[in-house]
Amino acid sequence: MQPEVRHYCGLFGIVHHPQAAQMAYLGLYAQQHRGQEAAGMCSTDGRTIRRRTGQGLVSQAFNDGDLEYLANETAIGHTRYSTTGAPTDTNTQPFKVTGAIGEVAICHNGNLVNASATRSEYERNGSIFVTTSDTEVILHMLVDRRFADQPDPLAAVMRQLHGSFCLLLLYPDRIEAVRDAAGNRPLSLGTVDGAYVVASETCAFDIIGAEFVREVEPGEIVTITKHGFRSRRFAEEPQCRRAHCIFEHIYFADPSSNIFGENVHLVRRRLGAQLAREAPAEGDLVIAVPNCARCAALGYHEESGIPVGRGFTTNHYIGRSFIQPSQSIRDLTVRMKLNPIRGSVDGKRLVVVEDSVVRGTTTRGKMDALRRAGAREIHLRVASPPIMHPCYYGIDFPSRDELIASKRTVDEIRKYLGVDSLAYLSQDGMLSCVQGKREHYCTACFSGQYPIPIDPSFQKDVFERNQLRFFEPQPQPQPGNGKNGA
Ligand code: SF4
Repeated sequence: MQPEVRHYCGLFGIVHHPQAAQMAYLGLYAQQHRGQEAAGMCSTDGRTIRRRTGQGLVSQAFNDGDLEYLANETAIGHTRYSTTGAPTDTNTQPFKVTGAIGEVAICHNGNLVNASATRSEYERNGSIFVTTSDTEVILHMLVDRRFADQPDPLAAVMRQLHGSFCLLLLYPDRIEAVRDAAGNRPLSLGTVDGAYVVASETCAFDIIGAEFVREVEPGEIVTITKHGFRSRRFAEEPQCRRAHCIFEHIYFADPSSNIFGENVHLVRRRLGAQLAREAPAEGDLVIAVPNCARCAALGYHEESGIPVGRGFTTNHYIGRSFIQPSQSIRDLTVRMKLNPIRGSVDGKRLVVVEDSVVRGTTTRGKMDALRRAGAREIHLRVASPPIMHPCYYGIDFPSRDELIASKRTVDEIRKYLGVDSLAYLSQDGMLSCVQGKREHYCTACFSGQYPIPIDPSFQKDVFERNQLRFFEPQPQPQPGNGKNGA
């Protein structure tokens, strides 16, 4: 089912491992949930950097020929959902440049809130941008003499970036891993077979048998070479006002991952238990709306004592529903992806646990399907507060007008969704379920309080609208599958 909120990006890097490309492939595969539009990898033999990118899932983006081409000891990779910049080959990361600073490749998870202003400044001074992604601004800054001449050019550039960014930069002799001063997105360091790895989520470590070492700290740059890693800071503690994205715990991250110091599954279970305390319901069966809400449904069941069961089957073998040509076929595809189990729900009073409600259209479809399968009552419990504000830090929520909770009361939403009762988790309740200090989390999409200053005029396609259109970039043919590479 096409999600109402798109995931953004997943990063993976590995230094000095004989099977770096294969490891990077698996590390991206494990983080497929963070981006399904495109994937890319760059690797280096210590002299030059090679690049391969492709559209679609990791398994579609690369073939054996790509992995052979990338067979070097150090690699970075990226799974993409576009938070700025259209989903094109040109915008697929990692980006690679060759210039006065040598070769460098970069990939990014997050959103720069000052990218638009910085890009305009460079364009006024004659710089040409190839992509419509905010990430390209960083490359222009790296070759800018104002920064390149400083003792630590990378740190100098990082101090000028505002917003949400985890970055991996690949140079012929190293990887630089960077996390913004707020630690808005997760980034962790691990080790496997004596080599160091870095990934957005620790689920990538599990799949390759890597051990977790520690998180990259907010405001930190970690330089990883074949000799090990060393750390420096571009922002010191007083400037590092933590603002971890709480939505990572609610929805985005894989339940097996540890992020922001704790396990995602355990947080979701606590969210479900807290929801049961705040919003009890009379029911015969607790079911989850697949797939993210399963952990919260388990927590709700444990706290309420109401039996938990399966309400839907999920068909994992169907492609993305939005590529189907007509609305009616799309609707049928959605139905096939998530089919209610009549034998489980028929005649029952259901307590349905959902992780979040965004537009409401998808949730309404699921509630409708449960009614058709014979549900007697539906009590919808949402394991997060109402989403009322857009995200400017890399999550592609729809506009405020499209967020159902921004314009309707809870009872109006209940009627729209066609359920017998509806309750959301409170913001206090949500924050009681994470172990960190509550002021260390971003909750802006619920509260409207943005911890990092924003540009309210920012829109995802800002660079498309302003891009010069002298030419349409053509994909470069390459051996194997005709994808982009260099
Ligand atoms: S606004 Fe919401 S989705 Fe965006 S970073 Fe903050 S908590 Fe996460």
